[in-house]
Amino acid sequence: MTLRELEKGQTAVILKVGGDGALRQHFLDMGVIPGAQVTLQKFAPLGDPMELRIHGYELTLRLADAEEIEIAPIPDNQSHQATRTPRTSQTPRTPRTPSNAPLQGEGIYPSPYKGEDGRGSYKGEDGRGSLSHPGFGEEGRYHDEDAFHPATPPIKGPLTFALVGNQNSGKTTLFNQLTGSKQHVGNFPGVTIDRKDGTIKGYPTATVTDLPGIYSLSPYTSEEVISRQFILESHPSGIINIVDATNIERNLYLTMQLMELGIPMVLALNMMDEVRGNGGTIRINHMEQMLGIPVVPISAMKNEGVDEVVSHAIHVARYKEGPARQDFCSPAEHGGAVHRCLHAIMHFIEDHAQAAGIPVRFAASKLIEGDKLVADALRLTQNEQETVEHIIRQMEEERGLDRQAAMADMRFRFILGVSQRCVVHPEESSEHRRSVRIDKVLTGRYTAIPAFLLIMATVFYLTFNTIGAWLQDLFQEGIDRFTAYSDQLLTEWNIAAPVHSLIIDGIYSGVGTVLVFLPLIVCLFFFLSMLEDTGYMARIAFVMDRLLRGLGLSGRSIVPLLIGFGCSVPSIMASRTLPSERDRRLTILLTPFMSCTAKIPIYAFFAAAFFPGHAAWVMMSLYVLGILVGIVVALILKRTLFRGEAVPFVMELPNYRMPVPMNIWHLLWDKARDFLTRAFTVIFLASIIVWLLQTFDFHLQMVPAAEASRSMLAQLSSLVAPLFEPLGCGDWRIVTALVCGLLAKEVVVSTLSTLFAGVAITSIFSPGVAYTLLVFCLLYTPCMATMATVRRELGTRWMLFIMVGQCTIAWLVAFVVHLLAPL
Ligand code: GDP
Ligand code: MG
Repeated sequence: MTLRELEKGQTAVILKVGGDGALRQHFLDMGVIPGAQVTLQKFAPLGDPMELRIHGYELTLRLADAEEIEIAPIPDNQSHQATRTPRTSQTPRTPRTPSNAPLQGEGIYPSPYKGEDGRGSYKGEDGRGSLSHPGFGEEGRYHDEDAFHPATPPIKGPLTFALVGNQNSGKTTLFNQLTGSKQHVGNFPGVTIDRKDGTIKGYPTATVTDLPGIYSLSPYTSEEVISRQFILESHPSGIINIVDATNIERNLYLTMQLMELGIPMVLALNMMDEVRGNGGTIRINHMEQMLGIPVVPISAMKNEGVDEVVSHAIHVARYKEGPARQDFCSPAEHGGAVHRCLHAIMHFIEDHAQAAGIPVRFAASKLIEGDKLVADALRLTQNEQETVEHIIRQMEEERGLDRQAAMADMRFRFILGVSQRCVVHPEESSEHRRSVRIDKVLTGRYTAIPAFLLIMATVFYLTFNTIGAWLQDLFQEGIDRFTAYSDQLLTEWNIAAPVHSLIIDGIYSGVGTVLVFLPLIVCLFFFLSMLEDTGYMARIAFVMDRLLRGLGLSGRSIVPLLIGFGCSVPSIMASRTLPSERDRRLTILLTPFMSCTAKIPIYAFFAAAFFPGHAAWVMMSLYVLGILVGIVVALILKRTLFRGEAVPFVMELPNYRMPVPMNIWHLLWDKARDFLTRAFTVIFLASIIVWLLQTFDFHLQMVPAAEASRSMLAQLSSLVAPLFEPLGCGDWRIVTALVCGLLAKEVVVSTLSTLFAGVAITSIFSPGVAYTLLVFCLLYTPCMATMATVRRELGTRWMLFIMVGQCTIAWLVAFVVHLLAPL
């Protein structure tokens, strides 16, 4: 029986995980391993994907992928592990005490601090109450500098830290706490994935980098590749590993791989407020003892324990204290098959690993898992490769599992030992109960899509009609006043006409038209980050996945695309929330097909002149046409440029959480700063160029308004005008307006009204041509602000691609419309 056939509410144990390659590895890394228990929570409203509960968290999976997983159902009364949650609403919330009987973990995984009896003892043996961390000097292990580091001279220079953790573990929150306002946002070299660096508060020479959230060190998405590369290649002085304490089982999987790297490391156990609030506890000292790295309980949200993380991190990095344990395999487990295999390979490839600069333990693990990047880097000879292969085969045979599953299983077994010894789970956290209740509506079968539409409509209404619009008006007024005032000053000072015009008509109006978007962007991002931080965004992806899969996208793309109906600029910026670079590119390419609000004035202008009384229909038809063309383009791109592998949809559905105001504030500030920088660089330049072309003729004489046709812009436009003859609108004034529309779509209307002053536009062409023109406006190259955003996000090549592509598509579609148009 496969996972696909499991019924709602049923629990099963996983027997075998099929499939191959990176996707399979990803499944294993997320805890979908033989022996694990899964409960089917629900299906998405459109029937696909499904939501599972595994290792105490919620995971989404597409049905097609679920078919690859073999399971055996367990009768209801026997399941316990995967479903800590249901059926407990009546039972009082008494924490389960961890068994004190000797456990697997005890005998099999001896403490790395052997012979230090008594040192790792911990308070709060009953599992209740707060367990204080040993802190400086108390246990002596990490901070007794004289005793433990007589030979290691401390690093004196600057220190660099990598902040690593699962998605939604609170990385961003911790990062903001660590750095305060001293952050720098950029991109990783060569790719447009956010890279945030910051100086740690109180330690001016220590910097920390916020890496994209990852679940393991087997690179899967492009972000995971980046994170791994950063950790391996930039040689940080230390790692701050943030772990979600409400879900230690899954989070530690990454921790163990990080420890294999041998880099000094601190474990920041986040969300302790939630754990405590629900009556759970974690035996910190014990955990520290089992793992051999400092473990610090924190609440990033409440800024508790963060200082301690910093001082431990600085300490381990300065004294180069690597993790005391790197060995997670046990000779006592399944005949030590995995253990012997791992150690054999470690010894065997030691020289190669050293030469390649890869930590040997990590190299061996990845080699067994079949990691191509590591295998290539090691440069094993043919003979060596074969030997390694033989060792692995032997292990597979003895262990009865294939190599990837055996490794994942080994890690999860160790984790189980840690969790049994150290974690006192609450029966069910109130956060989870709350999430289940909210999800009844937000991902419910009949309510999910209406709720989604309602929420998005509210966001749009508030942004484009209320708050954002109000701010925008305010902004516009400010800019207008400032312009008027400067205008007056320039006149008073008797500044030469060209300079005056350059400042007012060129720079102010150019930068100004773009600047007025700022309030909208800030406003939209405010709502977006609320959706993201509360955890709703993941639900949207879950609900909408089915719809977008046909286009080669996943559910997550729906949000940027919808924002595109408001404004392409924030939409393109929002595509950063997408987990894969391929999805992100494709989404950005499709954004311009969503008709933005700046085009509404154009539609209104023509509709009023040519289709009085039918404006609504005209607009509606244009919106629909835009979407249809977008779908066709998506289908074509999916079969050509974006063939690649479909991004699987294995995603965690985190509990709903209250957003942290500081995170939102930082994000808004980032976006605003980003946008302003652009407005005053690229757009500043472009405005000047357009102004030059518009104001002068080819003899560099200024052109008076009445003779606009003499300007360079008009002359150049009339060169292009023949291209528009087949569309029935080869008039140079129309073409000039379209060219000016490249600046901002609103400008089309203002240019037209200047150029057609005193001429009835209806006398120049027919309604059919007018509609053709509207279609062209709908689809042609987006405005300057959008193109500048695309360039920043995807680079110059893609920007040119969009510029030319959109124009071509617009022309072709408009041509077809013109042929079909009755008048
Ligand atoms: P990231 O995806 O790892 O960057 O995680 P974020 O920093 O965005 O945090 C994810 C969610 O967890 C947000 O809604 C935060 O408000 C919340 N969060 C972060 N730290 C804590 C914490 O210490 N306690 C609680 N209760 N929530 C937290
Ligand atoms: Mg984050």
